[in-house]
Amino acid sequence: MTTHALFDNSYVRLGSAFHRPTRPTPVAAPLLLKLNRPLAAELGLDIAELDGADGAAVLSGNRVLSGAEPIAAAYAGHQFGNFVPQLGDGRAILLGEVVDRNGRRRDIQLKGSGPTPFSRGGDGRAAIGPVLREYLVSEAMAALGVPTTRALAAVATGEPVYREVALPGAILTRVASSHIRVGTFQFFAARGDEASITRLADYVIERHYPKAAGAPNPYRALLEGVCARQAALVAHWMRIGFIHGVMNTDNMSIAGETIDYGPCAFMDTYDPATVFSSIDRTGRYAYANQPRIAQWNLARLAETLLARLDPDESRAVEIAHEILAGFAETFQTAQLDGFRRKIGLRRAREEDAALIGDLLACMAQEGADFTLTFRGLGAAAESAEADTALRALFADPAAFDAWAQRWRIRLALEEETPAERRAAMDAVNPALIPRNHLVEAALSAARDGDLAPFERLNAALVDPFHVDPGDADLAALPPMPEAAYRTFCGT
Ligand code: AMP
Ligand code: MG
Repeated sequence: MTTHALFDNSYVRLGSAFHRPTRPTPVAAPLLLKLNRPLAAELGLDIAELDGADGAAVLSGNRVLSGAEPIAAAYAGHQFGNFVPQLGDGRAILLGEVVDRNGRRRDIQLKGSGPTPFSRGGDGRAAIGPVLREYLVSEAMAALGVPTTRALAAVATGEPVYREVALPGAILTRVASSHIRVGTFQFFAARGDEASITRLADYVIERHYPKAAGAPNPYRALLEGVCARQAALVAHWMRIGFIHGVMNTDNMSIAGETIDYGPCAFMDTYDPATVFSSIDRTGRYAYANQPRIAQWNLARLAETLLARLDPDESRAVEIAHEILAGFAETFQTAQLDGFRRKIGLRRAREEDAALIGDLLACMAQEGADFTLTFRGLGAAAESAEADTALRALFADPAAFDAWAQRWRIRLALEEETPAERRAAMDAVNPALIPRNHLVEAALSAARDGDLAPFERLNAALVDPFHVDPGDADLAALPPMPEAAYRTFCGT
């Protein structure tokens, strides 16, 4: 394989405090389930070599490429608010970094490749369902324009994994800007290892926030940068109805990408209190809580950087508070701007927040589908004839009519032609999301050896702002209400 020449493993060079060398544990019968060819090409990998039996050996960890220096990374984290001083890669192994065709440094990681020094009694493995689920959802997020880790490949291991029942095992090859988390900083803070925090912060500045290096206080600029990216990220989640489901500090990427797809899911019916994860009993990570949880996580990051914000401790705390308040402000602005565009408004007016809030309240009250409502507004902005389909999404269609009347008065203050407005709206309101019933059907077929529904859904989600006539069923309302839909963590 020619790929070895590309590896350049800067994280390994940070030193032994940051990771443990760990080889993937070979599996019985690796079989390639899916290869992401466009992504492989972007990374400069040899697609022909990844595609066959040889590729399955590499993507399962049975063969470690020369140039790879496999490690399990150390990190800590607050899980549901409780601090765990040592988590780390328990079922993931970082093979190394490549610089892609656009000059971007990307991590290549195997997830489900066997136990590591951080496995804490776990088997280090993953089942086919969660692996294909992460594949589908992370690739859908990328196509929706959301910063995210990517899925390069899924392989079956030919071995069972034992959860409540025996399930076919699989391994995901994940690609990320990096796998550094808020919890990576917390790992060193918990040990009082200030030198490693500085080393990590300097590394993160160089790799992800190069502009911060030139700031009067680079660490302050780093914290501001992380906050800005998280604000933009969570605002993006909110406007597509995405619920991460397990926003622990170890699942928050320093680079600002969506990471660790476990119990995540998209809402069908709009309800701000929606929680899908079976372990989130208090609704800590409910849809509407995501911005404030992100801010809470960033406060944990700020704590680890405090000594670098100012030599005077109380001044340092003050600076941290200012930056965290800045997060809230940046989020609010991104949220309002994003929803303004979703309802077809380009210019900002005072009354817009109320108009948006009232639509959302009405959708919640009347059980309207989040994705179809916003998508339908594009057509309705062009022609009131499209109201028929939209009204049908509301339990009481008159509730929509009352809102639509106010909306049209507001639209009249805008400048674009109806056709221009619709095009702009259709470019921000997806027609397709990985709906829960479709994902479940695809995974259940895959467990029985039929990958066709997975392939079909994955292909359709490559262009979520456009529906082929043959894919109309993928854009439609779910056949049954999702009231009892539950997701599980165990990737
Ligand atoms: P998660 O909630 O998926 O982000 O995982 C939280 C922690 O549990 C991480 O440190 C994982 O590496 C670890 N973990 C989860 N599942 C397993 C497993 N099957 N074997 C070993 N470690 C695991
Ligand atoms: Mg995790």
